[in-house]
Amino acid sequence: MTVKKIHQLPRLYIKNLLAEGSAITLGEGPTHQLANVLRLNNDDEIRVFDEEAGEFLASLELPKKKNAIVHLKQQLQESPPASKPLWLYFAPIKKSRMDFLIEKAAELGVTDIQPVLTDRTEVRDLNYERITAQLVEAIEQCEAFHVPRLHKAIPLKNINASHKIYAALERRHATPLQQAITAHKEDAAGLLIGPEGGFTENETEWLEKTPGFVSVSLGDRILRAETAALYGLSLLI
Ligand code: SAM
Repeated sequence: MTVKKIHQLPRLYIKNLLAEGSAITLGEGPTHQLANVLRLNNDDEIRVFDEEAGEFLASLELPKKKNAIVHLKQQLQESPPASKPLWLYFAPIKKSRMDFLIEKAAELGVTDIQPVLTDRTEVRDLNYERITAQLVEAIEQCEAFHVPRLHKAIPLKNINASHKIYAALERRHATPLQQAITAHKEDAAGLLIGPEGGFTENETEWLEKTPGFVSVSLGDRILRAETAALYGLSLLI
């Protein structure tokens, strides 16, 4: 039998506050994932973590036809403090591109995801449960602790934030994002990315004159929405 190093053990997010010595019964989803997808067995070790208490080594109990139970053993890591708020405001795009964007935004360390409905938004019906599952999976995989909060979609003009929002506007000769953020890297911030068809003229003008938004360019090339979002986020983290 090969002995797995701790960092090779599957890592599972559990929302409850965890504590050494406790036993937690999992829901059907995680039970299926551990037993049927990862094909783990009774007494196998995994890692479990939450946002408050940190990460623990745990052993698995897989009773037949019942939900799995994890028995928490020693604590492996404390949860680090939450990072500065970094919001991604974006107009939802088509499925595979959005899946990619959601996963990568979580990996990069976005703290809040705010879908925004614009005149040309392609996708208006969001599957919040599915997106939340994708966020959790990305956080499990990248060894982070804090699952980004997913907010319900709102119309563009209803955005009301206490932080500055960099609005990515192509073809407007706006200040490059790198330049706009140099003095404010430590502050909470947001990045707003438009839909594949871009913001309308009316929306662009509204963004340019509304306090709280800072128009920025992401360069001379017109990037796909997900590329624009990830490029912008990588400068803001
Ligand atoms: N259909 C638009 C056009 O041809 O002008 C392009 C829209 S682009 C695919 C989607 C979004 O990505 C834009 O609304 C903007 O927020 C962002 N974006 C893409 N390239 C950009 C750039 N070079 N500078 C600023 N924002 C950009």
